[in-house]
Amino acid sequence: MSKPTLPRVAILGAGPIGLEAALYAKSLGHPVTVYEANAPGAHVERWGFLRMFTPFGMNVTPLGLAALLRDAPDRELPADTDLITGKEFRDAYLAPLAESSALRGLVQPQTRVVAIGRAGWRKGEPADPKKPLPPFRLLVRDPRGVERFDAADVVLDCTGTLGRPNWVGDGGIPAVGEVAARQHAAYWPEDVRGARTGHYAGKSVLVIGAGYSAATAVCELATLAEVHQATWVIWLTNGPRTQPLGRIGGDPLKERDRLAARANSLAMRCDGNLEYHPQAMIDELVCGGPDQGFRVAARLAGKPTTWDVERVIANVGYRPDLSACAELRVGEPAGRVETDEPGYFILGAKAKGRDSNFLIQDGHAHVRRTFAVVAGKPGLDLYAKKAA
Ligand SMILES: Cc1cc2nc3c(=O)[nH]c(=O)nc-3n(C[C@H](O)[C@H](O)[C@H](O)COP(=O)(O)OP(=O)(O)OC[C@H]3O[C@@H](n4cnc5c(N)ncnc54)[C@H](O)[C@@H]3O)c2cc1C
Repeated sequence: MSKPTLPRVAILGAGPIGLEAALYAKSLGHPVTVYEANAPGAHVERWGFLRMFTPFGMNVTPLGLAALLRDAPDRELPADTDLITGKEFRDAYLAPLAESSALRGLVQPQTRVVAIGRAGWRKGEPADPKKPLPPFRLLVRDPRGVERFDAADVVLDCTGTLGRPNWVGDGGIPAVGEVAARQHAAYWPEDVRGARTGHYAGKSVLVIGAGYSAATAVCELATLAEVHQATWVIWLTNGPRTQPLGRIGGDPLKERDRLAARANSLAMRCDGNLEYHPQAMIDELVCGGPDQGFRVAARLAGKPTTWDVERVIANVGYRPDLSACAELRVGEPAGRVETDEPGYFILGAKAKGRDSNFLIQDGHAHVRRTFAVVAGKPGLDLYAKKAA
């Protein structure tokens, strides 16, 4: 008797979690395709100049390590305790995994999934409970821009959130002028003391945000100002706290805690070349054109204030892009991998929705949970099996 065929799995995104999901699916015997709009690990590469808070051993799995060492038993990998940069992680782990014999032929780089529906079904139509659901139908755009349809029984959306930065305006909507100014401000981490020094040294820079990325920008700019003394930093956060960053009591990630402590201390002292304003509700972010500076208007604890600055760094987080699955029963994710669309799962950073406190380790748990649900075996855990 021939073995029953397992569901075909389509994985969107070859970041740390998409690649891990592909290894897991392959190990279980599923037919798998991974679609990656850019290069594998592209989002990690984007902030790759930063040192990670989590040690290498927390970012990898037994499946991933086994796949790499199977191809090259003498491969030198970072030690489990090493704190490497995002780029080093991409180069040492993600890129070789995408090219490993375990995933050979399964990862399609520069291939974007544009839209997903179900064959012969439209959103809003009642589904016949007696019939199996029709397969997913994926509109895919290949590296030459040619479009085609692919089919899958299970879709794992591992597309992250980095592609869609939040707006700075009060209420989560754009401030006046922000839509046009977007291309001139920085919404992703900036390599302030590396490749982008020339852009920031000696400039007035307004930083918006109360997370670790904004804190990193502020600390790096403060260090830059020690050498380039005309550098002036204005830091706006919307929280009510007197200190910009909440510290995690007994944070096991020491570098993360050190960053929060340093940023808070800079904000509280407000010495050197930095001013800090909490409770800032931003109403206007207008740019005069390339290199023409910005006018930013906000209410500080209700009091209208404006600034004219040369640079703006808006590190205000990211949100999930749900446009590709708009024709499915998929709502904004908030921590669960399951969605209302049977067979459609959201894993990795995107599963947390707008909550930026995601670690790669959380995504490995998503992978394990998803395949336990797909297999209908709550105890299924390849990591436990490999570790035994
Ligand atoms: C500055 C910063 C520092 C961080 N530091 C750490 C850390 O130290 N430790 C830690 O554990 N975590 C850290 N994180 C969090 C987390 O590790 C990353 O966000 C991680 O990249 C999330 O992995 P992911 O696989 O879910 O998604 P991503 O890495 O975001 O990958 C998504 C992939 O999907 C692709 N894609 C998007 N849309 C489509 C589409 N329609 N079709 C096909 N492909 C698509 C993208 O090109 C991308 O390659 C950090 C995050 C940031 C922003």
